[in-house]
Parts: sequence; structure tokens; C-alpha cells
Amino acid sequence: MAAKCYCGAWAVQQTAWTSANVGRRFLACPFRKCGFFNWIDPPLCDRARAIIHGLIRRMNRLEAELKNAQQTQMITSTVLDESTIMGESTAMDENILVDEI
Ligand SMILES: [Zn+2]
Repeated sequence: MAAKCYCGAWAVQQTAWTSANVGRRFLACPFRKCGFFNWIDPPLCDRARAIIHGLIRRMNRLEAELKNAQQTQMITSTVLDESTIMGESTAMDENILVDEI
């Protein structure tokens, strides 16, 4: 579906993410200059809009949980690395003690 805007340039396809038109594609001026605008997709029904909003909320929640889990893992591995170093140090001390006995 090609169209030229009022500037004479090929209009570009974009996707709306507003609550009323979530995921709905449209054509617009590539320079955002002349105000050319034309919907490609028909409007979504209320059910489809509700489902998409629910999926977006779920995706955002899962991304936040993943980020928290990654931060927790990073902290845990840092603590484990430090305890490993301390553990090696303790083991070396024990070896010294064993050698001295
Ligand atoms: Zn234009």
C-alpha cells in the first residue's frame, strides 16, 4: 500500500501505540512536515484492544521481574565470588597451619 504524502515523498508505514489504536498501522509523511496521515488497518474492536493491553501489561511485568532476577543473580554471584576468595584464603591458612604442625 504505497502512497505519496503532500510533499510528494513516499509515505512511511508506522504503528500507533495509543490506547485507542494500539498496534494499528498507518501511513504518514516521512518528514512529519505536511500532515499527511492515512490508516492502513481498520479500527480494533474493544475485545482485541483489551487483549492487547493485557498482553502489554503482562510483558512489562515479566520484563520487570526478569530485570529484578538478573540484578539478584548479579548480587548473588558477586557475594559467592567474594566468599570463594575468602574460602581460598582460609584454605591456604589451614594448609599453612597443617604444614607448621
Ligand atoms: Zn510530507
